[in-house]
Parts: sequence; C-alpha cells; structure tokens
Amino acid sequence: MAKQKYRFRGVKCAYCGVRPATTADHVFPRSLFGQNLSNPITVPSCGQCNKAKSAFDDYLRDMLLTDIGGSEHPIAQTLVDGKFTRSLQGGHSRALLNDVAEGEWQDLITHGGIYLGDAWTWTPDVAKVEGIFSFIARGLIYKEYGERLPENYNAQAVRVPPTMTREIWDKFKETGVRPFVIGDNVVVGIGASCPNDRFSSGWVLVFYGGTMFLVTTNPSQLDIETTPAAPSVNHP
Ligand SMILES: [Zn+2]
Repeated sequence: MAKQKYRFRGVKCAYCGVRPATTADHVFPRSLFGQNLSNPITVPSCGQCNKAKSAFDDYLRDMLLTDIGGSEHPIAQTLVDGKFTRSLQGGHSRALLNDVAEGEWQDLITHGGIYLGDAWTWTPDVAKVEGIFSFIARGLIYKEYGERLPENYNAQAVRVPPTMTREIWDKFKETGVRPFVIGDNVVVGIGASCPNDRFSSGWVLVFYGGTMFLVTTNPSQLDIETTPAAPSVNHP
C-alpha cells in the first residue's frame, strides 16, 4: 500500500479534512455493484473515516435490496440471491433485521388512487441513513468542487415515494446538468446547487433503477423546508 500513500502525500481526507488521506474511498460502496464497477466515484480518505463509513455499507446495501423500488434490477436480484441472503443468515445485518421486524403490512396506493397491493413497510434507522448519506453527500461535493463541505453544513436525506420520483427527476433534469451513472445503472444520480451558494446542494440518487433518495446539503441553521435548492418532499 506504499504506492497509495505516496499518491495522497499532502492531501487531506475528503471527509474529516483533518487527517492525511491514505486510501481512495468509494463514495458508493463497492458491495452495491456486483461484477461491473464502471465509472466509480472515489475520494481521498483517511483510514478512520474509511472505516467509519464502511460500517454503514452493509446497512445501506441491505436496505436497498429490501426496497421494492429496486427489486426488478438484475444486479439487485443477483445480490439478493447471494451475498445479501448469506449476510442475513450469518446475522451480519442484525441491525437491519431488527428494523425490518418492526415493520407492518400496508396498502400501496398511488397518488392517483391505484391500488398496487400489500407491502411490508418498515422504518430504517434514521441515524444510520443520515450517517450513510452524509458521507455520500460529502464525497460527491468533494468530487465536484475539490473542496470539502464546510463544517457548518449538514446533509439530510429522504426516501422519495415511488409516486413522486418522476416529478423530482424532471425538476433536476430541467437544470441542464448531466446525470452520472455508475455500474450497470446501479446508481444514477444528478446534482444541482444554489446559484449563490454552491455548497447548498441537492442530489437525486436512484439505486437499482427504482429506489430514489433526495439528499440535500445546507448550512445547519437553515430549515430544509425553506431552502430553494431542495424540492419539498415528504418523508413516506
Ligand atoms: Zn478522515
């Protein structure tokens, strides 16, 4: 690994900005992708942040693989048949299992009133989800601007309900920014910033072709509802 250390000589970690970077961290964890990891997004990271972030990786993957939004994606299906099942059987994702166990059956109804059937719905651990997407947002900002998200900024994430994904996506497409694609459409994303503050940003991230999260970064004193960059979304 001496080569990597040399590569990052003098570069600070993209996440903490304090410790020297010693490794290239995958902003979107490798475990989401199966065989094809084309066009990955990596940022320089210190060992401690890399380790802290990787503690979230299993939770993110298992949360996405249990989401109906991505259930048609071939790579999601392969992972469900393989690693994910083994991980559940091995008890590695106990935190997620506990959260799923506390779910309930709910009718899935579109905004237009179309009944889609029953689904087991559950509430992911908010602290974990915020933690994961805070790392991801910081990685994306660093990659975009070559600068860290300032210390007084927060990242927030919401799962966009399936009935609203088209509307949100179109809003971001209207900005003229090109979406990025990682792997075989495992992650498709698009970002936009406030014209007068590039660190006030919004990112639409679609996992496995159907599970959409909206991630926003804002100065921590601002309420998310009043921020122009963020289309208002209600948590499902
Ligand atoms: Zn760090």
